[in-house]
Amino acid sequence: MKSFAPNPETPVRGRLAPSPTGHLHLGNAWSFLLCWLAVRSAGGRLVLRMEDIDPERSRPYFAEEIMRDLAWLGLDWDEGPDLGGPYAPYTQQERLERYAEVIEALTRLGRTYPCYCTRKELRTMASAPHLEDAGPVYPGTCLGLDVAACREREAEGRRPALRLHGAGETRFDDLLHGEVRLDWAQCGGDFPLRRSDGVISYQLAVALDDMDQAINLVVRGADILPCTPRQIFIFDLLQAPVPRYAHVPLLFDHEGVRLAKRHQSLELRALRETGISPRAVAGYLGHLAGLLPEGVAVAPAEIISEFEWEKIPQGPVVLQDQVEIVLKGIL
Ligand code: GLU
Ligand code: ZN
Repeated sequence: MKSFAPNPETPVRGRLAPSPTGHLHLGNAWSFLLCWLAVRSAGGRLVLRMEDIDPERSRPYFAEEIMRDLAWLGLDWDEGPDLGGPYAPYTQQERLERYAEVIEALTRLGRTYPCYCTRKELRTMASAPHLEDAGPVYPGTCLGLDVAACREREAEGRRPALRLHGAGETRFDDLLHGEVRLDWAQCGGDFPLRRSDGVISYQLAVALDDMDQAINLVVRGADILPCTPRQIFIFDLLQAPVPRYAHVPLLFDHEGVRLAKRHQSLELRALRETGISPRAVAGYLGHLAGLLPEGVAVAPAEIISEFEWEKIPQGPVVLQDQVEIVLKGIL
């Protein structure tokens, strides 16, 4: 499957796409800063999109906190839930009708099928090799179930998920990694567009949002790289132009643990509360990104002109021990 880059004449449109399921930590700040710099250095527009697709995990409180943390760090946006804009709404919960409409269209194209497998069954299928984070490979158990078989399972009270059927290799050019080729199975195989409880999958929501919001540059964490072929597959099925992608390295703490929600002391609000300045955070991250010779206090806007993909490290980035103390020392 081929993907193509947008016309270079087209103005760049990027997006900051946080999930309001927790506070932002230094790792989130790192990928948002790089996204912001990539878009601003290209003179582009930034969309803030709240990815609140999972109703169990999303909280309006976190959405507010995230906007506050981004603004504190010195990152702004041109369109978003708070500002509105030509492609509103910018929250996923307000776009459920659109997702449902596309699921119907993909079903009419014969691309979807109901899957009655339980979570337990899916877990025991996790044998084939897969990339980290793509999840277990779905072996296509329910592909080709006939109507009678579906009725039987529904009579047992099972509610189906709806999976998208795909195959083959996807190729795309990552601005940081160059050519990426991934096979459908390496990305986890056929995946749900809609879970059995009716919740729309992240994959579908993200692809449609990027499409409908005319996003042509996606900068995000490398953990999502194995999902990209799934999203490109959706773009191709809907005959929409595929954005350019850049998957930035993840941040790890000094012990080699990937930064996550449980690193509470590295949440931006925790850093702020200990008196660390946003300029120290931006300068430290800018230094890790290879944009500054040392960690000095700067506003993100001051390093826009330094941004170049060639400078950004490709591999994982490891934080120093006691990074809070280092940040405190940057004045
Ligand atoms: N909302 C996703 C996250 O917070 C990011 C999705 C994306 O950038 O495509 O991990
Ligand atoms: Zn199944």
